[in-house]
Amino acid sequence: MKTADYLKDLEKCVRCGSCKAYCPTYDEDGTEAMGARGRLALLREVSLQRLKPTPLLNDKIFSCILCGACSGLCPSGVDITEDIYYGRSILKQSDKTRRYLRFLTKFFSKNPNLNFKILQMFQFILLPYFTKKGFLPSNFKLSENTFKNGQQVYKPSKTRGRVAIFTGCSTNFLYPHLGKSLIDVLLEAGYEVIVPNGEVCCGVPLRTLGLEKEALELAKKNMRIFGKLKVEAVLSLCPTCILAIKEQYPKLIGKGIGNAMDISSFLLDKLDLHHLSLITKHPATVTYHDPCHLIYGLGIKNQPRELLEKIGVNVIEKRGEGCCGFGGLFSLSYRDISNSLLQKQTDKYLKTGANVIVTACPGCMMQLSKGVNKPVFHIIELIEEAYCGSDEV
Ligand code: SF4
Ligand code: SF4
Repeated sequence: MKTADYLKDLEKCVRCGSCKAYCPTYDEDGTEAMGARGRLALLREVSLQRLKPTPLLNDKIFSCILCGACSGLCPSGVDITEDIYYGRSILKQSDKTRRYLRFLTKFFSKNPNLNFKILQMFQFILLPYFTKKGFLPSNFKLSENTFKNGQQVYKPSKTRGRVAIFTGCSTNFLYPHLGKSLIDVLLEAGYEVIVPNGEVCCGVPLRTLGLEKEALELAKKNMRIFGKLKVEAVLSLCPTCILAIKEQYPKLIGKGIGNAMDISSFLLDKLDLHHLSLITKHPATVTYHDPCHLIYGLGIKNQPRELLEKIGVNVIEKRGEGCCGFGGLFSLSYRDISNSLLQKQTDKYLKTGANVIVTACPGCMMQLSKGVNKPVFHIIELIEEAYCGSDEV
């Protein structure tokens, strides 16, 4: 985004307040500055130099989860989340509170494998520490290996098409078994699967801290790799990654990965699920959690539910939508709000009486696992079990 576009976009706000209807942080706090309208007003005043950044002002802007619940509600078409990303890039110089987080996030995004090795080496100290601090679920175990290991190409016995996987950091380092499940399903469906070498972080964690320039460099690297692949679709288990590479990259670098898709939409279209039912140890009644970037960012609501129905799973809906409070680095910076949002959602899920929570985002999986004493699965695990007959879940 250019500064002139940013200012023009901020001016589009007619202060109607519709954006506050589903804002989780406004709902928590109830003050104007914790909703989109108030945040945009603050950013406008800063850009017109009528307000100077202060720790309090920065706190209001950096406490937005960037969930996107407000975006579709704006009658003026203000690009609220992009304005907040851009506003943060202006405020980052004055924002000392998150300077260490910025340093660590930059370091991680440049050296992810090294960081994973450090985490592995010191996991006996680090994992209990992170669990105690509430960053990780108590049952979290670190895998021995990452999902990616150089360029990987998987060929089915009879090829029907070709797809690539954008792995994302959470699947690669924290939940590599999800990547394996996706490959198994795609191979069973007859797709050749490419996991290209050289993928880097999608850039969203950097953007949330105002590090637009650094995120832009990552976007260019990913475009160089995925832009030239001749594949039907680029799939990811993480809706945030899809949102970034498909919708945010065009705003950042002028082009995105147009054939990027979330797995539910792709699999619903491609898998023949007519004769399946879930013959497993899992109860066939679950409740489903909508990841914010999937439902608000990509507009995907029915597809995961239809998929679950087709594999013989009954979905009990909770009352009302809502963010689980993860938001990537948000859950580290704003632990109280994050925990309170998690509590609200888990209370709703527990009221459904379902024994299992299913979602479609590794981040939501991790967050929800901290809040409930019930199994939380990524939808791909259930699809694999039903479609490939796996008993590994
Ligand atoms: S992105 Fe989410 S948290 Fe931020 S202002 Fe919009 S609804 Fe509120
Ligand atoms: S909905 Fe749009 S126009 Fe209305 S207050 Fe929010 S940002 Fe402004």
